[in-house]
Amino acid sequence: MCCIFDRYDIWETPLFDEDTRNKVLEFNSGAVFAKVGNKYMLNAGELAEGDLFTCPALTENGCILGDSKPFDCRIYPFRVMDKDGQRVIAVSTLCKDVHGQNHDKLRKYLKNGLAEKIFAYADANPDVVKPYYDNYTVIL
Ligand code: SF4
Repeated sequence: MCCIFDRYDIWETPLFDEDTRNKVLEFNSGAVFAKVGNKYMLNAGELAEGDLFTCPALTENGCILGDSKPFDCRIYPFRVMDKDGQRVIAVSTLCKDVHGQNHDKLRKYLKNGLAEKIFAYADANPDVVKPYYDNYTVIL
């Protein structure tokens, strides 16, 4: 679910840095990227209702990028978002396993060093900050 997109969640495709983009291209030369700031996003082309777009890094055994996954994938189902001009960390309602957990516990989990890393990465790479979308619940 996290690596396959439809026309409504195509905005959730991750941003790749140059190294990871090149790794994906080595594995799948048909992958198409567009440059966004100093990163690359997947170009899925036009998706009609019901069409699915599979990330070109996905194999039957999972992601070829292993621990080098893009930031967006490493923190999923969390996202760093801009809500009313403020950066927040939110969790996707689509991920029942994580979203279904006690949100105070999730907040505590994030405050244990992870939130600091996420916000620091977002400061250095503002392109990863998505506009707030109400399919997400703000945790921090
Ligand atoms: S880069 Fe890997 S983890 Fe991220 S969407 Fe693609 S296959 Fe999934």
